[in-house]
Amino acid sequence: MIISSDHGEVRYFRMARTIFGRALYWTGVYVVDGLLIDSGPPNMRRHVARVVDELGVRQCVTTHGHEDHSGSHALLNARGIVPLAHATGLANMADPRVNDLYRRVTWGSPPPAQVAAIGEELETPAHRFQVIHTPGHSDDHIALFEPDRGWLFTGDLYLAPRLKVLRDDEDVHAMIASLRRLVALAPAVVFCQHRGLVDDGAELLRRKLQFLVELGERIRALRERGLDEEEIARSLPGRDLMWRLWTGGHFAKRHFVRSFLRPAGASRR
Ligand SMILES: [Zn+2]
Ligand SMILES: [Zn+2]
Repeated sequence: MIISSDHGEVRYFRMARTIFGRALYWTGVYVVDGLLIDSGPPNMRRHVARVVDELGVRQCVTTHGHEDHSGSHALLNARGIVPLAHATGLANMADPRVNDLYRRVTWGSPPPAQVAAIGEELETPAHRFQVIHTPGHSDDHIALFEPDRGWLFTGDLYLAPRLKVLRDDEDVHAMIASLRRLVALAPAVVFCQHRGLVDDGAELLRRKLQFLVELGERIRALRERGLDEEEIARSLPGRDLMWRLWTGGHFAKRHFVRSFLRPAGASRR
């Protein structure tokens, strides 16, 4: 299933695999001035190919290597386009290995493809985008900012003002630092890859930052009272049972606790 919406010059295509008419997990791609921002999950590649051909896409930027954002690199290569991404993600994107069953069911696994390192800026015929390295959700994550229009493409850094669960490989300290950098840009319009245009986006980015800072304070306070990781996770708001079951524990409240209690910059492995 694919649904398009226009926000001035920016077009958004929201897409998801459906089972019995129900979307498993919405994600999306943007096209602006011949630039494709992310290329959707591998199992949506036929839809993405049509978008690329009909809108005359000439360039592609990938916000990070997760397969729901980087699934159509090979078909872009076949059209003479080499997607650009942060240098730290190139090896994974060139030869992606998606083993988790839930990810293969929801999005599929991308074939190997050619990708190249993005610079600090990216030009299209009518726009100049700043490339901002924003690790945290993943090490290779970037955001794109068009200062004349105030457009900010946040990849997977925004998603929602409050998160119930964290991935086991996310670094919440880096995520907070990255959110601070984006809030400082005071964007006029925020475009999330999964949500589309975010109404009142600058304020919601700030709220997400505040939510994480306060969550960290709460987790550290509970730790000082002597609670262990499991007890702290249970005391956090929301239920994560379905997430844990569906993703084999890849997404859980507990990963918030682990990530916050790990010193900033410490190895995640
Ligand atoms: Zn992601
Ligand atoms: Zn995503």
